[in-house]
Amino acid sequence: MSTAIETDVAIVGAGPIGLFAVFELGLLDLKAHLVDILDRPGGQCTELYPEKPIYDIPGLPIVTGQELTDRLMEQIKPFGAEFHFSEMVTGLEKLDDGRWTLTTDNETQITAPVVVVAAGGGSFMPKRPPIAGIETYEGKSVFYAVRKMEQFRDKNILIAGGGDSALDWTLNLAPLAKSLTLVHHRDGFRAAQHSVNQMRELAEQGKIKFHVASVKALHGEGGQLEAVTLADRDKKEWRHDCDTFLPFFGLTMKLGPIANFGLNLHENLIPVDTAKFESETPGIFAIGDINTYAGKLKLILSGFHEAALMAQAAFHICRPNEKLRFQYTTSSSSLQKKLGVA
Ligand SMILES: Cc1cc2nc3c(=O)[nH]c(=O)nc-3n(C[C@H](O)[C@H](O)[C@H](O)COP(=O)(O)OP(=O)(O)OC[C@H]3O[C@@H](n4cnc5c(N)ncnc54)[C@H](O)[C@@H]3O)c2cc1C
Repeated sequence: MSTAIETDVAIVGAGPIGLFAVFELGLLDLKAHLVDILDRPGGQCTELYPEKPIYDIPGLPIVTGQELTDRLMEQIKPFGAEFHFSEMVTGLEKLDDGRWTLTTDNETQITAPVVVVAAGGGSFMPKRPPIAGIETYEGKSVFYAVRKMEQFRDKNILIAGGGDSALDWTLNLAPLAKSLTLVHHRDGFRAAQHSVNQMRELAEQGKIKFHVASVKALHGEGGQLEAVTLADRDKKEWRHDCDTFLPFFGLTMKLGPIANFGLNLHENLIPVDTAKFESETPGIFAIGDINTYAGKLKLILSGFHEAALMAQAAFHICRPNEKLRFQYTTSSSSLQKKLGVA
């Protein structure tokens, strides 16, 4: 279903830099909508190293990727940004009135005078398992993400993988599915132990099946899966009937549709001017890991600085008739009101 949204700033990416951009924009009364293909905020911090300590965030001598994300989410709470998770920005179009419309693969449309690309190393894309012909089933009976659980009600589901996604969706979809089988190539998991324990309990109760096995081949017609060939560690093969296959084999980062936005990329990065962090296309800004300029350091603290300067320039585009007054959060009662602390 298509949703038309109008706002001040549309942000591509809810990594640490997209999140901090909400703060800097919020101080200037600019509203933001963020889109991320992931199902939660934090970008690389939460997807690649949630439990690793970061030591070079100013004022936080040690903070993990997850904690930093949680703190940023708390910091931006007063500004009521809206998030569109599990959606990929696929299109960017200029309107006759000078504004831009971002489109997502879920048909969400966000129209704004300013677009901020905070897409980091690109969108996290699922890894496709090496099974012949799997592309023909994708989007019809093979899915790499669960957008709407209802879609899977009364299905005979096969899930493959040993990480958190595989285990979480096994537990969440089991009550809805007609039947659910989990396969993993070994009897050990990378997922949270309590999820593994819950999965084993469901298997013992006969509510799901678990096999140490790999998917070797898919069988079906016109993209509709009817069965798969499974193989155990001794290479013994058997046919398993199912109509839905959800492989969760991890994610890889790819630039994706941003490459087609006409932003004159330089080695897959967006060149920006360092006074505003605007790209060569007026109204389109790029901050964080996705941009390039002389001396660029791909550090979170650099992205925070870039977000602050971007917000000042975005203000002049969004509010051309208003004056921008520089203020400190420590001494400005109006900023403190916006932050909900005065
Ligand atoms: C292992 C590791 C350790 C690190 N340690 C440190 C450290 O100690 N200190 C430090 O400063 N930095 C560190 N970094 C780097 C730091 O994580 C990055 O600089 C930071 O994450 C960049 O933030 P970002 O918001 O620009 O991009 P990202 O964190 O990459 O977030 C970008 C987001 O945009 C989304 N996205 C992209 N394209 C689209 C699209 N078309 N549609 C929808 N969503 C899209 C992605 O899914 C992603 O969530 C480390 C990185 C790694 C991998």
